[in-house]
Amino acid sequence: MRGYRLTSGDLISATFGDWDRFAIENGGARALTVQVLGQSLFDSIDGPATRRFLEQIFYDCRRNQSVMGQLYRCDSPQVERLFAMRVLPLPASGIEVQHRLIRCRALAAPAWPGLPHLRYRRCSQCLACNFGGPWVVGHRFRLPSGAVAEDAVCPVCRGAVFPAVPPLRRGPQAADAGQGPLR
Ligand SMILES: [Zn+2]
Repeated sequence: MRGYRLTSGDLISATFGDWDRFAIENGGARALTVQVLGQSLFDSIDGPATRRFLEQIFYDCRRNQSVMGQLYRCDSPQVERLFAMRVLPLPASGIEVQHRLIRCRALAAPAWPGLPHLRYRRCSQCLACNFGGPWVVGHRFRLPSGAVAEDAVCPVCRGAVFPAVPPLRRGPQAADAGQGPLR
């Protein structure tokens, strides 16, 4: 498990767990704690679609004071990795974001025959690709060298954000908080 905490203005105020080890193992020296503390989280997120997607999750978490969850893929060149992200409200409109590894397995890379376009959309959450037709899930594609992936969040992932536990601090039902499964 690893994660970070954000201020009300989405500045990174802390990291925890094996954050630095993960950064080193994945070649992300820019992601080391010493580099990111005090920085805006959104400075390190390139794609506009992913940024809007995360902004919406954070907004819902703060507004409803509820824990949000999402499954996403973060692969290395050799390994397919599935993570669960949990977003928890903190006092003063802060947020804690936890990442937990769910599944890890060797990556197969089938060829993609007859690619019609050099530009395509790739979901930043599940890595599904869209070449102009349906979203294609679960494969790595051997693409032409000029292929350009545009940032996107696919409809399945948009619909898959779920409250991880019942809303917090909601009167009589608050006693149930924390008993909900992550799914
Ligand atoms: Zn997706």
